[in-house]
Amino acid sequence: MSEPILEVRDLTVHFYTYAGIVKAIEDVSFDVYKGETFALVGETGCGKSVTSRAFTQLIESPGRIVKGKVIYHKEDGSTIDLLKLDEEEVRKIRGKEVAYIFQDPHASLDPLYTVGHQIAEAMVVHNTVKDWKEGFRKAVDILRRVLIPDPENRVKNYPHELSGGMKQRVVIGTGISNNPRILIADEPTTALDVTVQAQILELMNKLKREYNTTLILITHNMGVVAEMADRVAVMYAGKIAEIGSVDQIFKNPLHPYTQGLLRAVPNPLAKIERLDAIPGTVPNLIKPPKGCRFHPRCPHATEACRKEVPKLKEIEPGHFVACHLY
Ligand code: SF4
Repeated sequence: MSEPILEVRDLTVHFYTYAGIVKAIEDVSFDVYKGETFALVGETGCGKSVTSRAFTQLIESPGRIVKGKVIYHKEDGSTIDLLKLDEEEVRKIRGKEVAYIFQDPHASLDPLYTVGHQIAEAMVVHNTVKDWKEGFRKAVDILRRVLIPDPENRVKNYPHELSGGMKQRVVIGTGISNNPRILIADEPTTALDVTVQAQILELMNKLKREYNTTLILITHNMGVVAEMADRVAVMYAGKIAEIGSVDQIFKNPLHPYTQGLLRAVPNPLAKIERLDAIPGTVPNLIKPPKGCRFHPRCPHATEACRKEVPKLKEIEPGHFVACHLY
């Protein structure tokens, strides 16, 4: 599992707003390995979605990718920097080799077209089927794979005729229709009921194994991370705070922010009356705190933390942290 499929280096995205420049992510670097489930976690607004969207240049105005590289290892062993591709070249990769499942299934599907049409279209535009007829035939097969009952008839349904859980299965079906090498699932269960969430996570695990896909999972839910991920990157205020295996992160969290996140997760077996909250709020990224961006909320902050940006250091094999305590 140590062969990278994606190498993200110094990725920096800014949004140029009337209020000022929002430094949404800065110098984000990590590797994603072939076949793993890699989770990007952190509070809302920490930059997880922006990071994943930047991989295939899905940053809309007023956002701009200011610097960085996203090295993609192709199936033939060659590499390309996805950020150097022009729009036409990147379209050939996006949706085919690197596909997305977005958070809200209601917004991801077009109400004017049947679900069969939308799955078929994803294949037609990438020429993975020879015509629409084959696309519709394969759409039925895909609906079956994502465990939608009666797929021959469901393929003719419009999104409003399906429940939220069924719609998300269709979105997953569209995502896997071209058998992508990397599937990026951005909060894929947040908009769903708890019981449906478990089914969708189980389905994604099953499909990942069947298709041998690398899964990048974006979530704020540590329970989902524990259930699904092999490795985890914790983000705070647009920076990487810590990277490690799921065991390293849960058993030996090093960064004070990761420790705070884990203390805020309810444990039904623990006899405590109150959960610990991380004091303070996420900083304004137009004027982020100097030095370590976590210092205004960190109980261990020192003078050095207020001045110097901590670098990501490897503390034990595969376990990296950006904190002056180490
Ligand atoms: Fe806390 Fe300092 Fe570490 Fe930042 S660098 S997390 S402020 S101890």
